[in-house]
Amino acid sequence: MLKRVIPYAHELIQCAVKPGDVVIDATCGNGHDTVMLCRATGEHGKVYAFDIQLEAIEQTKQKLQSESLANVQLIHDGHQHLNQYLAQEDHGRITAAIFNLGYLPGSDKTIITKPAETLSAIDQIISHLKPGGIIVCVVYHGHPGGEVEKATLLNHLSQLEQREFNVLQYGFINQKNKPPFILAIEKKQTD
Ligand code: SAH
Repeated sequence: MLKRVIPYAHELIQCAVKPGDVVIDATCGNGHDTVMLCRATGEHGKVYAFDIQLEAIEQTKQKLQSESLANVQLIHDGHQHLNQYLAQEDHGRITAAIFNLGYLPGSDKTIITKPAETLSAIDQIISHLKPGGIIVCVVYHGHPGGEVEKATLLNHLSQLEQREFNVLQYGFINQKNKPPFILAIEKKQTD
């Protein structure tokens, strides 16, 4: 059975994360991934969760409260400013990050993730990623602006140094309506 895209994205994250870890939700959106990350890292772990829309931050806050999850810092700002928020003690300690690209369903479709900001955030996370850590991007590309972001990401990530990173693309190529696919970056263990 081939895993669907979202369950596979979660599986990749869960394989890389253990209780006590420091992780990032780069795009809270409806808060679904933030909850998953809080569960995976547990009460001794930490989740940094970003979104530029107050609506997304509020939705996420409510989901977390209803699940009694508190090991999270909700940040109402762009993920491209990560370095301003990452505590000194968490430098080099990130074991996973997730991005859901595109717009927030049910909200303003013109507020979308932007290629330059996404790449800046990815590069900042990479510089703080632990060996064995992973960044998972769920690439939605059916909206205006989505194709450009997809092309920018594929171009940038395909050039990451092979000796340091494994970069995966996972998706179904016979589905209609431009379904999302995964781009995942794993920092190799040093040998
Ligand atoms: N397309 C996905 C959901 C994507 S939600 C789906 O259909 O399930 C993307 C979220 O990223 C939105 O809530 C949006 O506000 C947020 N966002 C956009 N630019 C951002 C940035 N620079 N930093 C953090 N969040 C951002």
